[in-house]
Amino acid sequence: MNMTRRTVLAASAVTAAATVLQTPNVARAALPLVQPELPFIQTDLAPVISSKTVALHYGKHHKAYFDKLNTLAEGTRYADMTLEEIVKQSANSKADAKIFNNAAQAWNHVSYWDQFVPNGPNRPMGEIATAINAEFGDYEGFIKRAVTVSDEVFGTGWVWLTRDDQNKLALIGYEDGNNPVAVGRPAYLGIDIWEHAYYLDYENRKADHIRAVLEKLVNWRVVEGRINA
Ligand code: MN
Repeated sequence: MNMTRRTVLAASAVTAAATVLQTPNVARAALPLVQPELPFIQTDLAPVISSKTVALHYGKHHKAYFDKLNTLAEGTRYADMTLEEIVKQSANSKADAKIFNNAAQAWNHVSYWDQFVPNGPNRPMGEIATAINAEFGDYEGFIKRAVTVSDEVFGTGWVWLTRDDQNKLALIGYEDGNNPVAVGRPAYLGIDIWEHAYYLDYENRKADHIRAVLEKLVNWRVVEGRINA
């Protein structure tokens, strides 16, 4: 399944109530929006995500989205909004596509880094595990589904654990910076499948990267918190 924000808009009302915000550090209602610090040290994710990849991905790519957004939003109706509000408010404005792209990517990566808070359980627990197993069979099935969905995204994008039209847990692919939040869905766990996320460490082996992230890096306590928020 590969959705853009437009194709799922009609269904968004179903899950709107479940929308989650996990970005307290960027929830300030005035420019400049500040890129939050990493919740780990740069070497913590190695060897799955090397220190060099974190340095570039966080320090260059992610930072650039904040920098561009702050420039673009200045003097606009977005200037007093939180980051999440900007994502939602610009999502359907063709004229504000640049603002949306940068805001969505700024938001996506805050969520991305936060899910790698160290020392958490790297498998779902309790009721979350039951729900994951009900949808995907087991954790291996969850990983395989994530890889399949990632292959259905042509080019850059993300795979998110979110909810589908029936409000069930689902892995859904999004192109470019599009995300569940923009279409009123919850964003529980995001896998960045832009090449900058893995190419230095895994070259073209995207599936191996996704598997390693899901097996070794995700803190399911953080994901649980988002699901229960
Ligand atoms: Mn990225």
